[in-house]
Amino acid sequence: MVDTFTVEQRSRNMAAIRSRGNRTTENALRFRLVRYGISGWELCSPDLEGKPDFVFPAAKLVVFVDGCHWHGCPKCYRPPASNTGYWLMKFKRNRARDRVVSASLRRKGWKVLRIWEHEMERSPLTAVERIRRLLGSRPSRSRKSLNFADSVAILRPSSRKHEVV
Ligand SMILES: [Zn+2]
Repeated sequence: MVDTFTVEQRSRNMAAIRSRGNRTTENALRFRLVRYGISGWELCSPDLEGKPDFVFPAAKLVVFVDGCHWHGCPKCYRPPASNTGYWLMKFKRNRARDRVVSASLRRKGWKVLRIWEHEMERSPLTAVERIRRLLGSRPSRSRKSLNFADSVAILRPSSRKHEVV
């Protein structure tokens, strides 16, 4: 079958898929941070290298939620059906950039945690526990209970930037 998408169109499509997928994963983590009473974070700091999805300024911890497809997760990666070479190069470049960003942030004294999209899907609590360990806090006995209005407010995208919880 002839590939009717130009590279540019495909790139736009992929970017749309990426942002949608990532937002869902990011919201899943966000919801659980609140649910399990983990505070002290901000969303998506544009001033920091690599624009981490979550920043814990006091604990000097940044968390990236990496989409499996876009960031070339070794577990989930499947080569695309067409333009294989092009995409392979792109994914490799993305992974290389991720590594450079992580290393640079670590040099500046940040703890860096990268969570794969599939980890959030399969075992979200493991991700939460990893964050908690890096924050050095003990597991809390009581779960913060959320009512429906809270959950809606948390997941509303309009209040994303510089929101401190
Ligand atoms: Zn994956």
